[in-house]
Amino acid sequence: MGGQVAEQLRAAALAARRGDEGSAMTHAWLFTGPPGSGRSVAALAFAAALECEDPDVVGCGRCPQCLAVKARTHGDVLFIEPRELVISVKTVREEVVFPAAMQPTVSRWRVVILDNADRLNEYSGNALLKTFEEPPAHSVIILCAPSADPEDVIPTLVSRSRHLYIPLPRVDEVAAILTRDGQISEQAARLAASATGNHVGRARRLATDKEAQQRRSSILHLAELVYHGDQAFIAVTDIVKKTTRAAEAQLTEENEVEMEKLRTALGMGAKGRGVQKAQRGVAGQLKGLEDLQKKRKTRAIRDALDMSLVDLAGLYRDALMLATNAQVGLIHPDMQPLAQDLAKVGPRGLAACIDAVMEARHAIDVNVRPEAAMDAMVGRIRLASGVS
Ligand SMILES: [Zn+2]
Repeated sequence: MGGQVAEQLRAAALAARRGDEGSAMTHAWLFTGPPGSGRSVAALAFAAALECEDPDVVGCGRCPQCLAVKARTHGDVLFIEPRELVISVKTVREEVVFPAAMQPTVSRWRVVILDNADRLNEYSGNALLKTFEEPPAHSVIILCAPSADPEDVIPTLVSRSRHLYIPLPRVDEVAAILTRDGQISEQAARLAASATGNHVGRARRLATDKEAQQRRSSILHLAELVYHGDQAFIAVTDIVKKTTRAAEAQLTEENEVEMEKLRTALGMGAKGRGVQKAQRGVAGQLKGLEDLQKKRKTRAIRDALDMSLVDLAGLYRDALMLATNAQVGLIHPDMQPLAQDLAKVGPRGLAACIDAVMEARHAIDVNVRPEAAMDAMVGRIRLASGVS
């Protein structure tokens, strides 16, 4: 979180503590910023500052309130992360409007954070409007949208909130966030920040998740395997398989929970007269959820492959920078020796390699089978690098 953003939020929390409902504090907020800018980090930091019970500092980071908010276990701070592609009226009512109306149970404020607020449509946005316009005196509602543009959130909500734009942090800011707990070393944090284009969430995953590190390593080494006969093609199959498995694993658990919830809501598993007949009617709803989950899975696999390809493009970009003696930081500083080797291909060849990666991304996006798209990419990279 940049200094200015943090300063504004601190001022608001301080005003709230003083009971000064003047210019600094307001109950309805809209946080926007590009993916990875740390909107949820900012929203939770703000919530902690509001709930903090340290007499001298707002958001001390040490008191029970601060710790509970950070661990996302605070009874009065709700972090809603809708998975629906379009947020429904039901979700808004049950997860935002109703909880915001309740009295705080353990602290001074009820804070409801609704992420992915760009997925509100006219109807669900309207369902939120009244609460957002006149929030209960003890409630703060924060809408977060992964977008650079508040226009992506419905205008009636934008005009009733204070908008805070959270810019993408710099490498040292991401590193500072990641090293805060003392679990991640400074060096690992800086590398992860750089390798993910300063995306806080991805950087954290890369710094802590061995499998994510292995996937990155595999895709980057593809650039080396291109020079070794068929090995690059074999590696492609492996990369696609492992990326697919990882994306699936992440979704499977969530999907099961979601399906179970729907089954319960529909009264499945109940026995008795008439139940079977009623259940035939709800089969359509289950099928609908299944279809949605399937689509989501396809999307998640494509996104994961796309991120890997962005990593690979970054390596060729580093090589291009080295080949042209551009004095800029590398995206993958730990791969400098490989980038140095690749630099021998020369600027024109490297530009063609980057094009090849971009074409593969596009192909996968328009439904070409990932192995096929990536095999074609390897073929083009070999050609561009003068391997025959
Ligand atoms: Zn505190």
